[in-house]
Amino acid sequence: MDFRLYAATTSQGKLRDFRAAAHTHSLEIEPLENLDAIDPPDETGETFEENATLKAIYYSRFAHSALILADDSGLEVDAIGGAPGVRSARFAADCGLVDSPDANDNTDVWNNMVLLQRLADVPFARRTARYRCVLACARDGQLLQTAEGAVDGMILEAPRGTGGFGYDPLFLLPTLNRTMAEIDLETKASISHRGHALSALLEKLL
Ligand code: IMP
Repeated sequence: MDFRLYAATTSQGKLRDFRAAAHTHSLEIEPLENLDAIDPPDETGETFEENATLKAIYYSRFAHSALILADDSGLEVDAIGGAPGVRSARFAADCGLVDSPDANDNTDVWNNMVLLQRLADVPFARRTARYRCVLACARDGQLLQTAEGAVDGMILEAPRGTGGFGYDPLFLLPTLNRTMAEIDLETKASISHRGHALSALLEKLL
């Protein structure tokens, strides 16, 4: 069966994760061509599901009959009321520290600094968190399916590891005693919010 998904994301980190996760299902996920030439939609949703859905529907109008996959994801930290949540990409921008999120700049570094600063007085035992991901799949302006995945962790007091992206160097997986930035892509695909969400989505689609 010729089944190909096109990921509507400019995040190289998300793309790497998708490719690794797709590999475990023996299918391919390619980036949506010419994405840079398309003005991104405003992510006005209040939930991951709303934002993933609006992105999938929007981008699917630019690729006739293709299956378009959109991801909205983020980090929820219990000690700060679930923040940054849907604002994860813009945590530092929302504090006025950077202009806007941009995969090629230091947004991740700033976001991690803001997170550490917000948790400065929180002891390790209370630094519980989770990554959440909602994937939406659409074709020709119609939503086909959504699916969600999550993974629990703890926020460290200092970064560890050089892999991954975003908050990965601060996100400890207690059962592995590794951060998301210290594991390989295959392991991340098998345990991560994005890997779980993709498995759940494929179960609904196939
Ligand atoms: P989105 O583009 O609005 O979905 O932003 C997602 C943001 O959540 C990213 O910019 C990261 O800050 C964070 N995030 C989501 N998934 C991951 C992950 O797998 N690792 C690290 N950070 C992530």
